[in-house]
Amino acid sequence: MSALLLGVAACGLGGLSLRYAWWRPAVVAANPRVLMYHMISEPRPGARFNGLRVRPAMFARQLRWLREQGWQSFTVSELLARGERLPERAFAITFDDGYADNLLQALPLLRQYRCKATLYLVVERFERDWSVMRKAHHDGGELQREAKLSDAQVETLLASGCIELGSHSMTHANFLHLDALAARHELLASKQALEARFGVTVESFAWPFGLYREEQVAFAAEAGYRSAVTTREGIDSPRSWQPLQLKRIKISGKDGWLDFRLRLRSGRRGWR
Ligand SMILES: [Zn+2]
Repeated sequence: MSALLLGVAACGLGGLSLRYAWWRPAVVAANPRVLMYHMISEPRPGARFNGLRVRPAMFARQLRWLREQGWQSFTVSELLARGERLPERAFAITFDDGYADNLLQALPLLRQYRCKATLYLVVERFERDWSVMRKAHHDGGELQREAKLSDAQVETLLASGCIELGSHSMTHANFLHLDALAARHELLASKQALEARFGVTVESFAWPFGLYREEQVAFAAEAGYRSAVTTREGIDSPRSWQPLQLKRIKISGKDGWLDFRLRLRSGRRGWR
């Protein structure tokens, strides 16, 4: 074989190794997996945010596999409450933002596979394009046009008995841009609004965009949250986790089956 062909073959294998990082060691099964989802829906042709859309058939396959492999489903609050007393192979499903497909597509599958989930709901989620609060050029209105859960739909989800309600702030604010007063308001007012509207206790929070400043972690505790999830990829140990800065495993609509399996195994897909 020519040197060129060998080189091409080596680059191909190297590329695969970087993409899938199959050599990364598995995280022990005693550490629970927290899975981050947004929408359960078909991708839209040409859309910017298709990574946030996991196909219903893929979601079903993921749930079926988890159950077949003996993984046990918890809400995020249940994970925190049990901590080191969790069984091996514990996982939590999380949905950020509050898209209508969480009820229409995800709930039937959660029921079918006897899984729970934690829903992180934005209180003022209608007529908002929060993607621009992260990057101004993300102004296509794509997420604004996406159907959100109505309050009545949230009630239906909660009545199913398998959904924990968490807060994702009042406005999906970028906490890096908030002063102390505004940050406290986003944390506390959203908790109070959700509790008043839905009659449940809200003790879980998801940092919008996974962005926050170190001093704001204390504000979350002050507001009464027991847990908060980030978008940092990985798998925490209940021995050493920071409850208000929990890592998650990103489940992307752009991933294939192998990606999902590797993310479950090591917390992330690629080499970084
Ligand atoms: Zn969000």
